[in-house]
Amino acid sequence: MFDALTERLGGVFDKLTGRGVLSEKDVDAALREIRVALLEADVALPVVKDVVAKIRERAVGEDVIRAVAPGQQVVKIVHDALVDLLGGEGEQPGLMVEGEPPVAILMAGLQGSGKTTTSAKLAKRLQDVHKKKVLLASLDTRRPAAMEQLQQLAGQVGVGFLPIMANQRAVDIAKRAMNAGKLQGYDVVILDTAGRTSIDEDMMAEAKSIADVTRPRETLLVADALTGQDAVETAKRFHERLPLTGLVLTRMDGDGRGGAALSMRHVTGLPIKFLGVSEKPDGLDAFDAKRLAGRILG
Ligand code: GDP
Repeated sequence: MFDALTERLGGVFDKLTGRGVLSEKDVDAALREIRVALLEADVALPVVKDVVAKIRERAVGEDVIRAVAPGQQVVKIVHDALVDLLGGEGEQPGLMVEGEPPVAILMAGLQGSGKTTTSAKLAKRLQDVHKKKVLLASLDTRRPAAMEQLQQLAGQVGVGFLPIMANQRAVDIAKRAMNAGKLQGYDVVILDTAGRTSIDEDMMAEAKSIADVTRPRETLLVADALTGQDAVETAKRFHERLPLTGLVLTRMDGDGRGGAALSMRHVTGLPIKFLGVSEKPDGLDAFDAKRLAGRILG
């Protein structure tokens, strides 16, 4: 991910950093190239406009033209603008799991986004790092295979799994999960809701009613970073209906252009909390805006 963008931006900086003095024209030309690089990386147009405007404002404000090492300064300004775009330096958002147990975490997203895998990864992290006792529950009544997949993953990572009962509605399974969580001393109950192949009224209504009865501390949207602008649009649509608290972007290990990752925070206003970086149960990185910006700039 980001390879092409890193290369393009590197090219822009190379032209600048060798130079002792920059003219306003040089800075404008660099800004134009940064704009094209971001657009080619599939970053949403309003986001690109905003970032470029911010970079221009800072470059002028800090008087890059008269600086001793102007190229270096542009690199730093672009770096800082990317960090801001990704949520700011202080944004290393963990999970809110404090409160009276069992605390519910609701997982939402389209089918195939990586929701079930991410549910298991989160359960493992909460157990291993935060020493929480975690119960996983699948609410996907339409796809028995999805339930079995989560059950298998729960066994693999060594956390609890709510037994499957035939013919129960998702909302009733969610209630049963919370009751089981309480009775059996679980700290956290992760609810893996049913996805669909596209945004669908039934899915939204179901997720909403599950949220109403379980009052989750976190409602996370799982989105596939490889689907680019579609992932951003999906996140927007979900956020209109569900009180999301954060995002998880999966397949960040894939060969994508990275636009979704760069647009998500700005378009939805939601913090990116985790990045999925492999298919394995430990392939989940806590999001760190500075680290990602550093990676993009190479
Ligand atoms: P769901 O339908 O949303 O529950 O999606 P799944 O959890 O079943 O994931 C769909 C596929 O994507 C599976 O083959 C996962 O192993 C894979 N997957 C999920 N997250 C990641 C990730 O971060 N990186 C990679 N490479 N594959 C992932």
